[in-house]
Amino acid sequence: MSLTELVNSVTTELNVTEVGAGRLITTLVKHIGKQDFTKSSFIKVGLSDKDIKFMINELQVRGYVDMEISYECRGGRYTSNDFPVTCENCGVMIKDSDHEHEYDFVYSFTNEFINEVQGYNKQKVFEYLHPDYVVNYYELKSKISTVVPFLGAGVSAPFGLPTWTGMLESFEGNVTRANLNYYRRLVSAGNVFEALTFLTSSSTSLTTEASIQKAIASKFANPNLNIPDEEHFMNELVNLDSPIYLTSNYDNILPNFFKGQRVNPILLNEVEDVRSLIDSAVNRVVHIHGYIDRPSTMIVTKKQYDELYTNEGYKAKLNAILAQRHLLFIGWSFADEYFSDLYSKLVSYVGGEHYMFIENPVMHQAQKFGQQNLKLIGLNIPVDDSGYSDKKVLVQAIKTVLDSMV
Ligand SMILES: [Zn+2]
Repeated sequence: MSLTELVNSVTTELNVTEVGAGRLITTLVKHIGKQDFTKSSFIKVGLSDKDIKFMINELQVRGYVDMEISYECRGGRYTSNDFPVTCENCGVMIKDSDHEHEYDFVYSFTNEFINEVQGYNKQKVFEYLHPDYVVNYYELKSKISTVVPFLGAGVSAPFGLPTWTGMLESFEGNVTRANLNYYRRLVSAGNVFEALTFLTSSSTSLTTEASIQKAIASKFANPNLNIPDEEHFMNELVNLDSPIYLTSNYDNILPNFFKGQRVNPILLNEVEDVRSLIDSAVNRVVHIHGYIDRPSTMIVTKKQYDELYTNEGYKAKLNAILAQRHLLFIGWSFADEYFSDLYSKLVSYVGGEHYMFIENPVMHQAQKFGQQNLKLIGLNIPVDDSGYSDKKVLVQAIKTVLDSMV
C-alpha cells in the first residue's frame, strides 16, 4: 500500500506518469540493491539535485531506507545513526551548518522496500501478459541470456519512422493511375518486395532498384531521437546486452542507445566469423536487408530478396546464429505476410525455439506459428472502436516485460 503512495507522490512531484514513476523506483532498486549508497548514486540514474532531495526524503519518511552519517574528525572516520550528532572525537555538535567536519549520509534500502518493489513489478508484468502465454514468458525468461532480439518496424515507429505499410503507401504518388489499384492490393496484402518490384514497372520516377533504394533511404533518414524514454523501448533492449541485434529495418536508431563503445552496424552478408560475433563483449546491430547509410546494400525488390535467400553463404550465417541462439521477435505483427514469409525462410534452415511479442494474439494464428516453433508472448493491449491498439500502452507493456527479464 505504502509503495503505491510513494509512486503517487513521485508521479506528482516529478511530473511523470505513474508508469514512469514506477520505473524510476525500479531502476534505483535494480542499480543499487542491498549496497550502501549516497546521493551521488542517484545522480547516475539522471535525477536532479532537487529530485534527489525529494526522493530521499520520501524514502526516509516511509521507512524504506536506513541512514547512517559518516564523518571525519582530525584524520579519524566515525559513523552514527543519528543526525545531528555529537562528534565522538572532539565533542562538537555536527549539524547542517557544520564546516569543521566533513560528513556524508550513507543510505541502504530496507529489505521490506526491495520486496515491495519486486512485488509491484511482478504485478505490473502480469497486468500486461495474456494469461494463456505466461508459460512461454517464464520459458523465455529462463533463456534470456541466449536470446538474440530480432527487431521489426514497430521498434522504430515511435521515432516517427514509417512502418512497411506506411512506407509503401507513401510511394502511391509515384505509381501511374492505371496501376494504382493493383499496387494498393499488394500493399494491403503485405507483399512488400512484390509491391516495390511492381513500382519499377508502374512508376515514371522510381524505375530502378537504385532509385527505390535512394527514395527509401530518405524516408528513414531522420528519426526523432529526442522523444522521451517512456515512448520507446530502446534502453530496455540495450539492457538485454545481446552481442547481436538482428533487424530487417533499414534505420540505425539502436546504436544511439548503446552504452560504452559504439560499434558500427554490420551486414549479415559481411560477417566473417559468426562465432566471434556471438562471443563478442560489445553490442552490434546486424542488418539482414541492408541499411540506409549504404543504400546500395538495401534489399528492395523481389529479385534481390529471392537471390539473398538462395545464397548459400547467407543461409549458412543465419543458420549459425539460429543454431546457437533463440530469436526474440519484437516490433512485428504476425498478420503481416512479410513477417510470415521471412520467418518461414529462417526456420526452414534450422529449427530451434524462438519467441515473439505479440499484441492481443488470436488463437488460430498462435497455433499456426506454434507448429513452426514460434512461441508467443501475448500482451493485452486496449483496442479502440476502429480496432487499433493503443501503441503507447504497447510500448509500456514491452518495456515492463523486457525489464522483468534481466
Ligand atoms: Zn570532531
